[in-house]
Amino acid sequence: IYWNFHQNYKMFEKFFEHIFQKPLTGYQRTWARRFLLSKSFTLVAPTGVGKTTFGLVASLFLALNGKKSALVFPTVSLAQQSFERLEEFKTKLENANAVKILLFNSSMTKSRKEEFEKRFISCDFDILIITTQFVSKRKDVLSKMFFDLVFVDDVDAVLKSSKNIDTLLQMIGFSEDEIEKATERLRSKNRENGQDTVSNGSKNKGMLIVSSATAKPQGLKPLLFRELLGFEIGRFTFNIRNITNIRIKKKSKEKLLEIINILKDGILLFVNTEEEGKEIVKFLLDNSIKIGATWNDFEKEFELFKEGKLNVICGVSSYYGKLIRGIDLPSRIKYCIFWETPCFRFSIDMDKAPRFVLERVFVEYLDNHPKLKEYFKNVEILQTEKLRQLVSKYISKEDYSKIVNKIFSHLKLTDDGKLVIPDVPTYIQGSGRTSRMFGMRLTKGVSILFEEDDTIFESLKSRLMFLLDEEWMEENEVDFESLMEEVKVSRKIQNDDFYQNDT
Ligand code: ADP
Ligand code: MG
Repeated sequence: IYWNFHQNYKMFEKFFEHIFQKPLTGYQRTWARRFLLSKSFTLVAPTGVGKTTFGLVASLFLALNGKKSALVFPTVSLAQQSFERLEEFKTKLENANAVKILLFNSSMTKSRKEEFEKRFISCDFDILIITTQFVSKRKDVLSKMFFDLVFVDDVDAVLKSSKNIDTLLQMIGFSEDEIEKATERLRSKNRENGQDTVSNGSKNKGMLIVSSATAKPQGLKPLLFRELLGFEIGRFTFNIRNITNIRIKKKSKEKLLEIINILKDGILLFVNTEEEGKEIVKFLLDNSIKIGATWNDFEKEFELFKEGKLNVICGVSSYYGKLIRGIDLPSRIKYCIFWETPCFRFSIDMDKAPRFVLERVFVEYLDNHPKLKEYFKNVEILQTEKLRQLVSKYISKEDYSKIVNKIFSHLKLTDDGKLVIPDVPTYIQGSGRTSRMFGMRLTKGVSILFEEDDTIFESLKSRLMFLLDEEWMEENEVDFESLMEEVKVSRKIQNDDFYQNDT
């Protein structure tokens, strides 16, 4: 059940270096993480940063693990070129013959075409290299095949035909029915506004990676990607950001005031509870800070903040909090401050623990009990309550707490038996408000975190590093003046609409 991401990541990193003779770039490291987490996603980045190379190596990596990929290119020559690069990469492999690559080229000789056709129809390949046009022409065959990965290089060409989107989704295992239903959901007026993706339980689905330097598609169909796969083309929800994270260890209101006075304007302040927030807002108001709060009249306060009549706006940092999700205001929002780390608290008691705790404990237990492990080999445990029964049946209370303590030793356990885990998605969403994409430009943001507890901080830091490759500074390492200058400059460039015209 468990896949060790770190180990896999290291493996992929090594594989890339071995194949390509150069280390992954920063962008590629981010993509590698998402790829290894088996997530569909968009690579939005300028030309020349290594999107295509990444796709090629990823497909080779899967092929060696017995998985099939399709690589879709906008033109025949790009398809040809990629085929040649892959063949070159293959020479670095010990078992080069193990990987079968099939290229479609419309200018092949008749006999070559026949051979292609035979192999294509019988799925005699690990990596299929085709063009966008081929996707339209052969949609009947392709939509019935299954690929673990479909990599679409330059998605813009593909999106020109909405039928192509259906085909791509079918290639990774979505049925016509599922697509139809999702389309209906998108059409229907009563769908909750601003709600994120409906989780589709995308089990047994392949992965769709699309690359684009621009990606600003219009219309309903591209939204299908979001509905079914949880990503949106042309918008950075997550993976590329330019944020400096700063930790301040000593949590004091005076320090907070000092920081706000340095940054002055464009600040989101996140608190964990409204109660705490009220106290802090009052303190800051008493010290002449122009601050509003979302729990008063959100629309009104936010409007004032937007107009620059308020310098700071305070809200509760929950994943669906208004400040965390709802707003996109890159010109105004430059800084965010977390008054403490957003956290989840879970009970570790056997009869209350959430599923992931039970799973980890059970897997760990089975690892030390081979016979039992063999017995459970083919059992797919689906219901949490069933899992809980199994855990209490096989594991004594004493062993259970020993295992819990071992597995979660890197996390904070409170005296009353709660496991405290930083709510990383909320931290990412919240801080992400300060660094947004505009065309190809990215605004620079700064996220400041007050956190006294080292365990919580280290856990947030390492998970953030893993997901985003972002680093942290301590307060004394920060040169606020130059940082603020960088923040300012990145917003000026925005007004330059050269890029907009260019596309
Ligand atoms: P994109 O598809 O984003 O335009 P490419 O994959 O074509 O980018 O790569 C652009 C150039 O950078 C190519 O010459 C490629 O060989 C090189 N390149 C790609 N990845 C790396 C890397 N990790 N280190 C060094 N050079 C790289
Ligand atoms: Mg490319």
